[in-house]
Amino acid sequence: MVATTSQTVVVAGGSLAGHRVVAELARHGFAGDVVWVRGPEGTAPYSRPALSKELIQGKVTRDDIRLPGLDTHGLRLRVVDHAVCARLDPDDDRVLVTPTHEAPAEPSDGEWIPFDALFVCTGTRARLPEAFAGLPNVHCLRTLADAERIKERLPGRPRTVVVGAGLVGNEIAASLRSCGLPVELVVQGRLPMDTVFGEDLGRFCLDRHHANGVTTRLLTTVTGLSATEPDGPVVLTFDDGGQTCADLVVLGLGAVTACEWLHGSGLDVSDGLGCDEALRTARPNVFAAGDIANWRHPVFGRRMRVEHWSNASAQARHAVESWWAGLEGREPAPFAEVPYFWSDQYGLKYQMVGHARGHDEVSVERIGADGYPFVTYFREGRVVAAAGVNAPRAVMRMKARIQSEATTIQGAYAG
Ligand SMILES: Cc1cc2nc3c(=O)[nH]c(=O)nc-3n(C[C@H](O)[C@H](O)[C@H](O)COP(=O)(O)OP(=O)(O)OC[C@H]3O[C@@H](n4cnc5c(N)ncnc54)[C@H](O)[C@@H]3O)c2cc1C
Repeated sequence: MVATTSQTVVVAGGSLAGHRVVAELARHGFAGDVVWVRGPEGTAPYSRPALSKELIQGKVTRDDIRLPGLDTHGLRLRVVDHAVCARLDPDDDRVLVTPTHEAPAEPSDGEWIPFDALFVCTGTRARLPEAFAGLPNVHCLRTLADAERIKERLPGRPRTVVVGAGLVGNEIAASLRSCGLPVELVVQGRLPMDTVFGEDLGRFCLDRHHANGVTTRLLTTVTGLSATEPDGPVVLTFDDGGQTCADLVVLGLGAVTACEWLHGSGLDVSDGLGCDEALRTARPNVFAAGDIANWRHPVFGRRMRVEHWSNASAQARHAVESWWAGLEGREPAPFAEVPYFWSDQYGLKYQMVGHARGHDEVSVERIGADGYPFVTYFREGRVVAAAGVNAPRAVMRMKARIQSEATTIQGAYAG
């Protein structure tokens, strides 16, 4: 049994990964102090995936999407809301916690909290180019507050434009259309989600938008957003010289990692927070989990960051286990979970497992009663990913297969 009574753990980040870390500490019977700094949102943890789906569509409320309460029995837990970790001391095991999301001018503006272990779960925030900021009818969608602001506008039946056709952009377009609104989707590439799904599923996704009445602009980049009145319609200009007008613009331009506060800490923050296969950073008592973690995946033999729900949950469990292994003098295992995500659009469930980047071959089958495409992605003859629509069993079978080919794939990618 590890003696932890006199130890302090700081958990930075109040969403899924932070929530799971706290749950795991309780499950391990950690008997010390836990300080959980939950960030600027000021809400109890909730299901972010629901924002672009059921919440926008009005099928659930903010109360319905709260994450289940934690069994913190036995934990000496201090929850700090409306506060952020603003700095990690490079020379000492302590973090500065401040009540705003801005780093304070003087360290005396916050509280330095010493720790024995720090779990960094500060995730990502929506990418908002400076040139697009400041217009009341232009929104990003990352937080519950963002979703509620968008939702407030919907009864006025606004003309909507969604910019960006990644996972979130596609879902927003589908959800707004499902609410009966006119929707135009601006796609920078040839097809929605094509950098993730490739040609066949990308085409399928595009066809579904068209079948449901969304208009699309392909191979188009937004170059400017403007409004003649502060709260008036927004004019979008495009790189091909075109223009369109909208009452509501939602930007789905991806995410940036929330690691400014780690600058100067000596840790690698070049793309998220760099850590080893066991999710340990260069400081042996600082761990990363969730959207922010950049680790070397032992199955695919390359560094990656995965911005998906199930990854955040699994990594949080693993990061605590890695720390615990260290306390017990054991070598922690690598985090080898095969990435997985789902996306709900127009009543269809898209699912993908594995890591398709760099694939050199695909096979496309039509499966199920509806004959939807099921795509298997290969690299150098090995299956590296699979994706399908309404095909959960086939997807999960492929997950098991990819996981079991781990050793061979690792060999194939070595070096
Ligand atoms: C609209 C939307 C839909 C999605 N749908 C899907 C889906 O269908 N399927 C899927 O697999 N994934 C989906 N995702 C992705 C999924 O939600 C994320 O992978 C998951 O939320 C990551 O959890 P996390 O805890 O790592 O980070 P985050 O959820 O980003 O949470 C980070 C937390 O840290 C806080 N924070 C930030 N900075 C600090 C700081 N300095 N100090 C303290 N706290 C800080 C933030 O306020 C936030 O609470 C979706 C994401 C969005 C935005």
